[in-house]
Amino acid sequence: FNASYKDSFYHKDLSITKVDTPKSYPPKDQLLFGHNFTDHMLEAKWTKENGWEKPKIVPFHNLTIHPASGVLHYAIECFEGAKAYKGKDGKVRMFRLDANMRRMNKSTASISLPTFDVEEAVKCITDLVKLESNAIPEGFGYSLYLRPTVIATEPKLSIRENSSALFYTICSPCGPYFPTGFKAVRLFADTEHVRAWPGGTGDNKLGSNYDGGMYLTKLANQKGYQQILWLFGEEHNITEAGSMNAFIYWTNEEGVLELITPRLDGTILPGVTRDSILSMCRKWGEFQVTEGSITMKQLAKASKEGRLHEVFGAGTGCIISPVKEIGYLGSNIPVPLDPNDPTSESGPLSRRIYEELMAIQYGDIPHEWTTIL
Ligand code: PMP
Repeated sequence: FNASYKDSFYHKDLSITKVDTPKSYPPKDQLLFGHNFTDHMLEAKWTKENGWEKPKIVPFHNLTIHPASGVLHYAIECFEGAKAYKGKDGKVRMFRLDANMRRMNKSTASISLPTFDVEEAVKCITDLVKLESNAIPEGFGYSLYLRPTVIATEPKLSIRENSSALFYTICSPCGPYFPTGFKAVRLFADTEHVRAWPGGTGDNKLGSNYDGGMYLTKLANQKGYQQILWLFGEEHNITEAGSMNAFIYWTNEEGVLELITPRLDGTILPGVTRDSILSMCRKWGEFQVTEGSITMKQLAKASKEGRLHEVFGAGTGCIISPVKEIGYLGSNIPVPLDPNDPTSESGPLSRRIYEELMAIQYGDIPHEWTTIL
């Protein structure tokens, strides 16, 4: 092994083995998120001794791993979620995949899994997406969801740094998150459990960060709430909304019109959508854009005083998820949607951000965030 081969896998070494007969997919209106997968996947193996092996695109297949692998016992794994979009012009565009792969390197490093060269990973995944371009459904809201993953595969039960791993990427053709247009959600502000804590792992995209939320989300669903609004601290600071970053549009206590999202203090996943929204709204320059802190008390007071304008979650899956109500300490805090349209399922700002982001993702607005394949 050449020393540099230890540090990354390289696009120039990528081999491609195609399936003999491409599969067919359900009609696009029946594509549920993450239910269907394309014909091929990207793989690269790593060992501590020899570094990365050459990357391969191969037919989609089940993995064979040792039952003692670290991923199965200590949840030593991390993942990403990015999307490729097919525009009206028939061209396929990747949206900020480099940002996802940078975040993945931070996640892998945090659990002693191997890192890689971001550009090389982007180039390999891009080749996979090119190969699957026929599987990308056309139309607003449709996309190819990409799931890069790194798992620990060392066949030993010892709780220590892992010495072998597998990087892989699978692709799933997806329909719109809200097939009939926005559907505003109700959040349950949980005052008993936390998603993440200072000095913890909440700012990395580790599978283990999601386990604790499953049962709690089920309980919230049974009470009629779709997602949990995660809080932290005695003041009940707002952190994240389900698996989305939280945004609050309000007139703050100083009377300033402001879009605020929790600052990246180690308990928040640095969302790519979050970053895109911040940069877009700062460019508009029409209201104050803040990465700061906001408590449930402040939000409830703003709602009572008519200063709360909109609340929404943001993430790659749904892009924007408007919120209409927040259950907190036994009562429901109403969140306005569109004051001019009582039937609307989103506020004007949520809608505007959603539409502008989609216009960029599908290529109606040319932007440095998109790469045409
Ligand atoms: N927070 C959490 C906990 C998430 O799982 C996600 C989805 N990746 C997000 C926020 C949003 O991140 P992104 O915009 O990069 O999808």
